[in-house]
Formats: sequence, structure tokens, C-alpha cells
Amino acid sequence: MSRLFVPDPPGEETGSTEADVVIVGGGPAGLTAAIYTSRETLGTILLEQRQCGGLPLTTDIVENYPGFPEGITGSDLVARMKDQASRFGTEIVEFGEVERTDRENDRIVVAGSGREYQAGAVVVASGSVPKKLDVPGEEEFVGKGVSYCAVCDGPFYKDRDVAVIGCGNSGLQEGMFLLDYVRSVTFVEFLPEMTGAKILQDRLRKREGTTFLLNHALTAIEGEDFVESITVRDRETGEERKVEVSGVFIYAGFQPNTAFLQGVAELSSDGYVRTDEEMRTSAPGIFAAGDVRVKKIRQITTACSDGTIAALSASEYLRDGRSKG
Ligand SMILES: Cc1cc2nc3c(=O)[nH]c(=O)nc-3n(C[C@H](O)[C@H](O)[C@H](O)COP(=O)(O)OP(=O)(O)OC[C@H]3O[C@@H](n4cnc5c(N)ncnc54)[C@H](O)[C@@H]3O)c2cc1C
Repeated sequence: MSRLFVPDPPGEETGSTEADVVIVGGGPAGLTAAIYTSRETLGTILLEQRQCGGLPLTTDIVENYPGFPEGITGSDLVARMKDQASRFGTEIVEFGEVERTDRENDRIVVAGSGREYQAGAVVVASGSVPKKLDVPGEEEFVGKGVSYCAVCDGPFYKDRDVAVIGCGNSGLQEGMFLLDYVRSVTFVEFLPEMTGAKILQDRLRKREGTTFLLNHALTAIEGEDFVESITVRDRETGEERKVEVSGVFIYAGFQPNTAFLQGVAELSSDGYVRTDEEMRTSAPGIFAAGDVRVKKIRQITTACSDGTIAALSASEYLRDGRSKG
């Protein structure tokens, strides 16, 4: 039960669609929440601004999700979650971005792209997007050598030299993926040490064609029509050097997708949603799950765990409200 978001024709009355639960975001957290609420027979609508799947669509192989000893591609894993949510009756609306959240009496209204939905409870599972570094050349060369997704763009760099900026889990994992295509990967890390999993560090250090520039800052991305080099600065000596590369893959942290929650629920100073252990936000009836909330470990398993708790808390909230009414 999946459909594309179709805005109302201009000039026509915009209707409001009712649901028990509206879920914002179709990544692992949102899809898991949908499996639980729809299996509890709550009328569930899931709104996803693009196609369902979230960040796993941008990664190749997922090796740490239990139940798949040989690993599973990110896209296969989320496709299964989507099928499961649909099977229990979730109505999935793709290409429907939520831009606003409001409250009308005891109903919560979520709206965007000319459509409005009213629900008794809302689960926010809108995740985050890769942060930009704002260095000279970054904006200019997006799609011309600058990328935030190795799985999407890596195959274009066959036998070329590329740089990966950021040596957390995402950077190391995607660097590993790139090594199947490219001639060399220069890893650039701002901190004196890599922060990604030790097993990934060890695997990469054994691979040919890898160089690690730790404690180095990316200061510029240069080229004519396409990327030709980057400049990095040694943070200890201040020395700058150019590295010739055709591609730059940036993994420098994330920015939460919470613009539509501003002023509605409490957010941290960097924009993540604050919740308690039951995934309740400061706004009654609004729950949050996955990477979008304040927490330490952001993985698919933890997103699914949050989605489960948020769904069951939403269900309890609706049941309590009904029994009082
Ligand atoms: C390169 C990379 C590799 C990774 N590899 C692994 C791995 O191997 N194992 C692992 O466990 N984790 C991995 N992770 C982390 C994992 O992908 C995330 O922790 C997980 O996807 C979080 O799920 P989520 O549902 O909270 O958010 P997301 O997956 O980010 O999904 C959020 C969804 O919400 C949608 N959305 C956002 N705003 C709106 C809006 N306003 N309206 C409607 N929809 C909206 C987005 O389009 C998106 O589909 C990786 C992450 C990256 C970037």
C-alpha cells in the first residue's frame, strides 16, 4: 500500500487526511514504528519526502544488522522493512515532505507540499543529512567531483585517485567501498585519531592504495570544470599541501531534519529532538525515534529500537486518551 504524493490541483480545496498515527520519515526508525503501529491495528500513514529507505540507501553492504550473517545491502534491508510495514496496512506516501507541525485541540497537524494530515499521535523519524564543510570549492563542485555518497557516485571514479574526508564509521566504511573501484584513497581526518571502528581501521591499513592524513584540515577543493586537487593543512605544523584527486567524498557529521518541529518540541542547541526513554518529546502526543533524536549511538539497530519504543508509546498514549474520553 504505497503511493506517490500528489499535491491538490491549484485553486482546489486542500483536504485534511485523518489517521491514528502519522510517521514522518521512511528510514529504519520510521518503517519499524510503522510495522508496530499498523500491527496494533492503528490507522497509520507514513510520510517520506523522497523514496523510502533513508540513509541505508546510501550505503553498500550492512554487516552489523542481526540476522544476515553474510551481510545485506542497505537497499535490500530497507525494502524488506517497507514491505513489512505495507503488509500490516501502513499507508506509505512517498515524495511528501513535511514542512510544518501544529496542534489543533487534541489533534496534531502535519502539513507540507499543499497537503495536511491530522493524527492523534505523531512519530518523528526524519533522521539527518550530511553536514557541509563550507570550504572553498565544496558548493561549486557538488556533482563535479564532490560527493556525500560513495555508493551513489563511487563507480564513476574507476581507477582514479580520490579523497575521503572524515574517518568516523561512515567515512571508513565508504572508503572501503571506494577501494573496489578507485586507484587510491587519501583519508583526511581533522582529529589526531580516527574515530571509526577499530576493525575497519585495521582492514583499511592492510589495503594497498590508502594514505591517512590525521590531524589535517581540508582547506580548499580546486579544479577547472571538475575537481583536480584538494589542499589540506597539518594542524600541528600549519604546513599546507596539495593532493591531486578527481573526487572528494565528505563524511563530516550530520545535521538533523527538524525544521518542521521548531517551536513545537524541545530541540538541543544543534537541532536534535530531546526525548525521554519512552521516546516522548516535550510536546504531548509527539514522539521521536532514530538519528533525529539526542543520543550517542546512531545505527540501524538503535533506530529500529527507538522506532519500536516510539510506536508502543504512541499506542499507549492513544489508548489512555481514548479511555479517558
Ligand atoms: C554512509 C553511511 C553508512 C552507514 N552504514 C551503517 C551500517 O553499516 N550499519 C548501521 O547500523 N548503520 C549504518 N549507518 C547509520 C544508519 O544508516 C542510520 O543510523 C539509520 O539509517 C538511521 O535511521 P533513521 O530512520 O533514524 O534515519 P534515516 O535513515 O536518515 O531516515 C530518515 C528519513 O526521513 C526522511 N525525511 C527527512 N525529513 C523529512 C520531512 N521533512 N518529511 C518527510 N520525510 C523526511 C528522509 O528522507 C529519510 O528517508 C550508516 C550511515 C551512513 C551515512
